[in-house]
Amino acid sequence: MLIDLSNVLSEPHRSVDETVPCELKIFRNGLGEYPVTESSDVHVKINYMENGKLQIEGTCKLTVEIPCDRCLEPVATVFDLNISRITKGNVTDESEVESEDLDEANYIDGYTLDVDQLISSEILIGWPTKILCSEDCKGICNVCGQNLNQGTCNCEDTSLDPRMSVIRDVFKNFKEV
Ligand SMILES: [Zn+2]
Ligand SMILES: [Zn+2]
Repeated sequence: MLIDLSNVLSEPHRSVDETVPCELKIFRNGLGEYPVTESSDVHVKINYMENGKLQIEGTCKLTVEIPCDRCLEPVATVFDLNISRITKGNVTDESEVESEDLDEANYIDGYTLDVDQLISSEILIGWPTKILCSEDCKGICNVCGQNLNQGTCNCEDTSLDPRMSVIRDVFKNFKEV
């Protein structure tokens, strides 16, 4: 969804206050594509500040399916976004740029704001460092790929910590005695 910024950027700088549908169906980052399974409407407020700067605020709640770090099953992850950005405006001297918003160019193109790009950028900022389907997810077997939350397999576990194999050898020796 695109929002026209010409009214807010030019006199008399009429503010934007709109509720628009979220059209983001797939979130992409450098690593993969993640389906957006649910999303609320996006409420966007844009106010003119000075020197061409805009204050952009937005709220949107959406659910993105992200694979569990251990077992790869999709985990419905809710992002409750509270966007607050200030654009660079008419800067003549690059050193005067106060905005830390380095990806502004992704969502503003001249006189249009790309709402879905803005949301994508915000999801990226809030991307969780760790995704687990549950705290005690058992992961998958490194040998056969069996999801160990759903059942066990008969593979010899070769991925054990080396310290564990020492213990295992001790047990073997013990049995032989
Ligand atoms: Zn898992
Ligand atoms: Zn296995």
